[in-house]
Amino acid sequence: MFLPVTPEEVRARGWKQLEVILITGDSYIDSPYVGVSVIGQHLLAAGYRVGIIPQPDIASGADITRLGEPELFWGVTGGCIDSLIANHTASGKKRQGDDFTAGGINNRRPDRAVIAYANLIRRHFRNTKPIVLGGIEASLRRIAHYDFWSNRVRRSILMDAKADLIVYGMGETTVLELAHRLREGRKFWDVRGICYASAEMKPGFLELPSWEEAAADPAALEKMFLLFYGNQDSRTASGLCQKQDTRWLIHNPPALPLTEAEMDDVYDMDFERAVHPRHHREGEVRALETIRFSIPTHRGCYGECHFCAIAVHEGRTVSSRSEASILREAAVIASLPGFKGYILDVGGPTANMYGFECKKKLAHGACPNRRCLYPAVCEHLHPDHGPQISLLGKLREVPGVKQAFVASGIRYDLLLADRKHGIP
Ligand code: SF4
Repeated sequence: MFLPVTPEEVRARGWKQLEVILITGDSYIDSPYVGVSVIGQHLLAAGYRVGIIPQPDIASGADITRLGEPELFWGVTGGCIDSLIANHTASGKKRQGDDFTAGGINNRRPDRAVIAYANLIRRHFRNTKPIVLGGIEASLRRIAHYDFWSNRVRRSILMDAKADLIVYGMGETTVLELAHRLREGRKFWDVRGICYASAEMKPGFLELPSWEEAAADPAALEKMFLLFYGNQDSRTASGLCQKQDTRWLIHNPPALPLTEAEMDDVYDMDFERAVHPRHHREGEVRALETIRFSIPTHRGCYGECHFCAIAVHEGRTVSSRSEASILREAAVIASLPGFKGYILDVGGPTANMYGFECKKKLAHGACPNRRCLYPAVCEHLHPDHGPQISLLGKLREVPGVKQAFVASGIRYDLLLADRKHGIP
C-alpha cells in the first residue's frame, strides 16, 4: 500500500495527524530500491502514522504544509541520488532529463535539495519538531567534506541545513529506534547511526581535525578522512567528534548491519512497486523501468574501489537475504502486470558478494589495516558462489519467470578465487 501523500489519503486511513512526514527530491516510487519508501514502509509496519511529500515546491508553502505538522519528526532526503549529481553533468552543465521525476523533465529538484527542504520546513513551521536528514546526500556529507561543485571543504550538511539530526547509512534500525524514543519522550543522543550538533565535544569520542583545519590544509583533510573511514565498522568504531565553527559535530558509531531475518523483514514488506497515482498525469518515471522487475539480494561491499562511496554508506559488511525471501519476491514480481518473464537484475552493490562473508569480520569487525580484496583476495574470506548459483537456478523455476539476469557489477577476482564454483 502507498504511503499517504494527500490529506484525503491520510483521512482514508482513519488518521487525524501524522507522526512522521517524509520529504523527498524524487517522485514517489514505492519500491524496495527507494530508500525513502523503505524507511516509510518500515515505520508504517511498526505502527507509525507516516506520510510523504514528494518534490515539494520550494517557492511556496502549498506542498510542504499539505499534510500539516508531524507529531514526532520530519524526515528529509534529496532522493536516490545526490541532488547536484542528479541536476548537473560532471562538467557542470544542467541536465535536461531526470529519471526520478515523473515526465522526465529536470525541473522539480533544487540543488542541495536537503538544505532547501530543511529551510522550507522552517519557513512554514516555526519551532517545529526535529528535522532529521537522511539518504545518500546527507549520509555522505555528514562530516566536513570536499565539495567538487564549489571546490572547497564544506561543513557537515547538518550545520548548513540547520537540522537537528542526520540518520546516516542504511537507516532502518536507527530511524525506528529514534521514532520509539521520540514517541516515549526519551533521550536519543546515544542512538547508533546518528549525527548531531553539540556545544561540547563528547567524552570518550575520538576528535577529528576540525573543519577549519581540514579546509586549510590537505594533510589535515587526509588525516580527518582516514580517522573517519577507520571508524565506520559497527563492531569496532569509536564515536567521533569534529569542531565546526563554534559547535561540535557528534558522530555516533554506525548501526549494526541487519541480520538475515531482519533483511527478509524489510524486503518482505508490502511495496506497490509502482509510481504513486498522483504522478500519473505528469508522465512516466524512467527509473522504475530498471527496478520494477529487479531484486536486491544483499547490501554492503568490501571492494573498497577508490572511486566508490558505498562502504561509507552501506558499510564493509555484506548482509544477505535468505533464498526463500528472494524467491517470494520473484513470485510477487511474476504476478505484476506487464511482467514478460525477465527479471532484469538479481544483485547488490557487487552482485557476486551474495551469501558469504568473512567469519572473522562478522565476529570482530573488518580489519583496520588490511583489505579484503586487494592486493589479493584475503585467505580468510573463502569466496563461495554456491548460494548465488543455487539462487539463480531456482529463480528460473518460479512460475512465470523465463530468465533472471545479473546486471549489477561483479568482481572477477572473487570468481578467480572460488575454486569450487568460480573459474577453475
Ligand atoms: S580477515 Fe580478510 S576478509 Fe576478513 S575482514 Fe580482514 S581483510 Fe577482510
